[in-house]
Amino acid sequence: MSNNKNRLTTASGIPVGDNQNSVTAGSNGPVLIQDFHLLEKLAHFNRERIPERVVHAKGAGAHGYFEVTNDEISKYTKADFLSEAGKRTDMFIRFSTVAGELGSADTVRDPRGFAVKFYTEEGNYDLVGNNTPIFFIRDAIKFPDFIHTQKRHPQTHLKDVNMVWDFWSLSPESLHQITYLHGDRGLPATLRHMNGYGSHTYKWVNDQGEAFWVKYHFISEQGVKGLDVDLADKLAGENPDYHTEDLYNAIDQGDFPAWKLYVQIIPYEDYKTYKWDLFDVTKTVSQKDYPRIEVGRMVLNRNPENYFAEVEQSAFTPGNLVPGIEASPDKMLQGRIFSYGDAHRYRLGANNQQIPINRPVNEVKNYQRDGAMRVDGNGGNTPVYEPNSLNGPAEDITSKGNPFEVHGVADSVAYDSEDHYTQPGDLYRLMSVDERDRLIENFVNHMKPVESDEIKLRQIEHFYKADPEWGERIAQGLGLAVPESVK
Ligand code: NDP
Repeated sequence: MSNNKNRLTTASGIPVGDNQNSVTAGSNGPVLIQDFHLLEKLAHFNRERIPERVVHAKGAGAHGYFEVTNDEISKYTKADFLSEAGKRTDMFIRFSTVAGELGSADTVRDPRGFAVKFYTEEGNYDLVGNNTPIFFIRDAIKFPDFIHTQKRHPQTHLKDVNMVWDFWSLSPESLHQITYLHGDRGLPATLRHMNGYGSHTYKWVNDQGEAFWVKYHFISEQGVKGLDVDLADKLAGENPDYHTEDLYNAIDQGDFPAWKLYVQIIPYEDYKTYKWDLFDVTKTVSQKDYPRIEVGRMVLNRNPENYFAEVEQSAFTPGNLVPGIEASPDKMLQGRIFSYGDAHRYRLGANNQQIPINRPVNEVKNYQRDGAMRVDGNGGNTPVYEPNSLNGPAEDITSKGNPFEVHGVADSVAYDSEDHYTQPGDLYRLMSVDERDRLIENFVNHMKPVESDEIKLRQIEHFYKADPEWGERIAQGLGLAVPESVK
């Protein structure tokens, strides 16, 4: 046996004798099927790609830690990883663009995914947010339609602004998010220079069983900075991986990016009376009503060793909630709780939680068995059913969810609020004069190629209802007039 510890092997560990020349029948004869190493090498190569995510395909990731800085947070949640100041939890984050494919350019106007996995002692907690505090739609039933408009036209296979603006103009609940998106924050300078938001309202429950509603805000210590549109276009051609590279290099050089995590805590009963529906993800909760409270600090201090193993195979789901953190009735969140896990079952398999990047640090004990790529011993000889009298793992009543009272009839019902305009108008008005100019320019440039004036006018009406000056300026930029019927 050779002592060479660095010798090449097949996937089954068998030493390879020649990795440069196939086995042929004679020096110029055909290749023999007995060259198993060749067959395995070519066959595995064909299988290197897994299905890319339908959304959030292009991403960059990093490891780090989260440290609690506020002892008071345990008043609001019994989540173990938030129990005391100084407590540190390892985490992994994946940033992403939404609409582009795996190889698409980083410097495009698009929301950024901001997905954090906390490896807590009570299981993995995934906070799957974006760099925007709101979303385009508020019911998951519209999600596939919405995403189809952001992807490619069925015939031309091109991005198509007609689909985009047709859908947005017919879905006025999108106005808030598209305003955020066409402002400076829709094109961040780097992944380090943007905030992250949980977007949905979640529920926190403390050890007394008291519940609160909560909104998450990760505020960048690097500051929030946008990218100049012309530079972004240039970079998209010259260095489509600009954001990925920037994040990797910063961490590699020891310039560790950090975010402070804040929450808005909303007393439980307030959901019945607050001026906005707390469970409508197209709305923010005013910080004037519920100021931010500091929770802790997230620091990214380690690059992945292997992109595919850690970033591509990382799997987040808003369904991964630890005791003390629960879902709200937000319809978009409820849909995501299903669809994220389902996407990973499709992409990575039924046992995707066993891939090292997704594996919790605590022990997994349950009655799930078998399935493709089961690699953890499959529960050994322990019982496979419950209830049992064999001392198998049993539920822990202290981890039971907090109740939420519901009433009414089962029906397909829209959210109450038809006010899609006040908050986007507030956002427009809080932008500086310069940013407002850029916002108008970005909208006009995006909408100009839309072929139908009907679509443009429908959208102008939304801008006008949010702020008449805004509507007038967009109409002027598009060479149209705000219809008299709207004024
Ligand atoms: P506040 O004045 O208390 O907060 C306004 C927030 O707007 C700031 O905290 C900042 O968020 C954010 N902001 C500032 N400049 C910009 C910009 N150019 N583009 C996007 N966001 C910006 O007011 P309210 O909480 O009452 O919110 C008013 C409006 O602010 C909302 O309608 C919403 O559109 C927007 N907003 C609200 C947020 C919230 O969660 N309440 C979060 C972000 C925006 P940050 O500190 O996170 O950078």
